[in-house]
Amino acid sequence: MIQIENVSKWYGTFRVLTDCSTQVAVGEVVVVCGPSGSGKSTLIKTVNGLETVQRGEIHIDGIGVTGPRVDLGKIRSRAGMVFQGFELFPHLSVLDNLCLAQTRVLKRDRGTAQKRAMQLLERVGLAAHRDKYPAALSGGQQQRVAIARALAMDPAVMLFDEPTSALDPEMVNEVLDVMTDLARDGMTMMVVTHEMGFAQRVADRVIFMDGGRIVEDCTKDDFFGDTVGRSERSRHFLSKIL
Ligand code: ADP
Ligand code: MG
Repeated sequence: MIQIENVSKWYGTFRVLTDCSTQVAVGEVVVVCGPSGSGKSTLIKTVNGLETVQRGEIHIDGIGVTGPRVDLGKIRSRAGMVFQGFELFPHLSVLDNLCLAQTRVLKRDRGTAQKRAMQLLERVGLAAHRDKYPAALSGGQQQRVAIARALAMDPAVMLFDEPTSALDPEMVNEVLDVMTDLARDGMTMMVVTHEMGFAQRVADRVIFMDGGRIVEDCTKDDFFGDTVGRSERSRHFLSKIL
């Protein structure tokens, strides 16, 4: 579903990504972790074209993300993204947050968009909050709305960049539960997170990044197990956060 091949990226003369290659299969959940500044956000943003790359190729569901004639609208409707900050439209109700891109981008009529929105609000447990504005919701509720809004585009993959790191601790689990439910339902997911409990429960594979490189790319069991050949850097990282 996602193919990343030999991707390198520079900000000016600073090389932020070096020869990154990996794939995410249909229905697979891949957790990306690593120290701050290691290039996790940059890598995940290249997947839906939010950041361009100078070298390498990326495809989502067979659609080229890199290259000269990229259809960014098409790519973004295939790949839903949820960020650390909730990024909801503050002047729109919860329901309208979920309907806007459905009507504008997918050209759904208002009735169809609202019906899909309500299904998704039920799914994340927020149907009763449909008429509220984002500011009236807790951080955890806002992030669940953001997930529902991304799902409203019926994406083929979901990309998450530290979706729980701006939340108060008591709200982390309600968001992870929604993500777990999504994964169990077969969604293809790439998730930047330091929630290693989530990784242990839900991930199929774990990627560890350091200094703009993919240093480890292995099954969850190998990552959390005591496999010979694990890099010293990722062992050290894990020992700090577990
Ligand atoms: P992570 O998400 O792992 O913390 P990022 O992908 O955000 O890392 O950043 C990787 C590196 O690239 C960091 O050193 C960061 O300072 C740098 N960086 C990120 N965005 C920009 C930018 N727009 N311009 C210049 N440098 C950037
Ligand atoms: Mg980041």
